[in-house]
Amino acid sequence: MATLTHMSRTAICANYIDGTWVESGSAKRVERRNPANLDDLVGCVPRSTREEMRRAIQAAKRALPAWRDTPAPQRGKILLRASRLLEEHKEEVARLLTREEGKTVAESRGELLRSINILEFIAGEGRRLTGETLPSELPRNLAYTIRQPLGVVGLITPWNFPVAIPVWKIAPALVCGNTVVWKPAELTSFTARRLVELFVEAGVPAGVLNMATGSGSEIGDELVGSPDVRAISFTGSTEVGSRIYAKGAQQLKKIQCEMGGKNPVVVLEDADLDLAAESTVSGAFGSTGQRCTATSRVVVVDVVADRFVEMLAERTRKLKVGDGSEADTYVGPSVDKAQLHKVEEYLEIGKREARLVCGGERLLGGNYDNGYFIAPTIFDHVSPEACIAQEEIFGPVLSVIRARDFDSALVAANNIPFGLTSSIFSTDANRVFQAAERLDCGMVHVNSPTVGGEAHVPFGGTKSSGLGERETGSTAIEFYSELKVVYVDYTGRKREGKLY
Ligand code: NAP
Ligand code: MG
Repeated sequence: MATLTHMSRTAICANYIDGTWVESGSAKRVERRNPANLDDLVGCVPRSTREEMRRAIQAAKRALPAWRDTPAPQRGKILLRASRLLEEHKEEVARLLTREEGKTVAESRGELLRSINILEFIAGEGRRLTGETLPSELPRNLAYTIRQPLGVVGLITPWNFPVAIPVWKIAPALVCGNTVVWKPAELTSFTARRLVELFVEAGVPAGVLNMATGSGSEIGDELVGSPDVRAISFTGSTEVGSRIYAKGAQQLKKIQCEMGGKNPVVVLEDADLDLAAESTVSGAFGSTGQRCTATSRVVVVDVVADRFVEMLAERTRKLKVGDGSEADTYVGPSVDKAQLHKVEEYLEIGKREARLVCGGERLLGGNYDNGYFIAPTIFDHVSPEACIAQEEIFGPVLSVIRARDFDSALVAANNIPFGLTSSIFSTDANRVFQAAERLDCGMVHVNSPTVGGEAHVPFGGTKSSGLGERETGSTAIEFYSELKVVYVDYTGRKREGKLY
């Protein structure tokens, strides 16, 4: 991404602050190009200033009282309209997402469907922001709870799900009565802009949702450090998440961090190996492996390991790598040059640490020269302690770890700092339930890939993968609201006896 000086006729991504689209006054701008075709310039993204971020926060602060007092079912109706608008514009937004991020159009459509479902579900939560009534130890007394908004919340999102992750933060934040300042990933600013346009068209009032483009270490940092921001919901790398957590803690902010993964598939000798191979290949190479829930390790028991690796390789060699906008593409490009280089470095490390089965290099020649394409790669005989078995690569790279038996497979599966998802492939019900209990992570899949999730089901990880309440589902409401307890004494008399 080069810094530009002359940009006539190039699309410039504006900020949305206080109900108005305003072009940043910053002189710093970066180009965004289609990672599958570098001749295709999506546009230029201004690196907004800290002052512009402060304006967005102040707009959100001013909009808070009226939005907090808007009945929750009415707030929900706006989200329902956003869901319908996203449905109406699904194809156009999916194509923009593919052009800017690189995943296949089929994957973009899937991401939009999930976003539509989340908006629908959370819209309904506007009618279910319930509390409890509790009996009292005293006569003619009761206690009840209500849910109230936190205030201004800051949302910081990654590029790899540039619609679904913002939606699963914005929707519950708004339905609970908070106002929002959103810092999308710079790499997917144009998709972010389109999403905000749809929320605005759906009727979100001025100042309630604000968005500024730019660099995380500048305006993202400003958002995290602002005393006017009560909570931060972050999704991204563990490295950045841990820094945000530490900084936000100094102001005692409420913080939620969804971070990296190194998700294993465990394959036992009684598994349906065809099903396990299909699921592992789609989990590993779908979305080019650029998913927090991607399958990056297979732990397979020795007796079926040779056969299983052969089945994986056979399927992987057939995957079509290319431009995600072409119908038969299965694996799109890496999102940018930095990501490409990071994966290339891991390929070299892998060649030293393990046995290369297939792939192992950048694809060049013809149209490949114009993008950031990597051949889907499998390494076998990977030690559980190897770099490629421990670190998140975020590319189309799969490590096969061989294990003696069920118990040692679970030990290897759990032997990482991360804990987002896992899969177990087995036809033995006892071992399936044991694995579901013993796998050290936030989400377990049985006889299905490590990826995916549903709108009304909680999402999140443990250890270095997740901190704070789960996202999506009704649990999302817990993060974005404060629980207040109200004690009511309807005796009309001075309380006697009970002094604690
Ligand atoms: P990232 O580099 O951590 O960035 C995430 C967001 O944080 C971006 O908007 C980034 O801004 C911003 N940021 C960077 N430094 C910051 C700082 N000092 N203060 C405030 N904000 C800052 O992650 P990414 O490369 O976009 O996404 C890939 C990562 O996300 C992977 O690790 C993946 O596993 C993780 N992820 C996790 C989940 C989950 O639910 N667990 C889901 C999807 C992805 P820029 O625009 O400057 O980059
Ligand atoms: Mg990054």
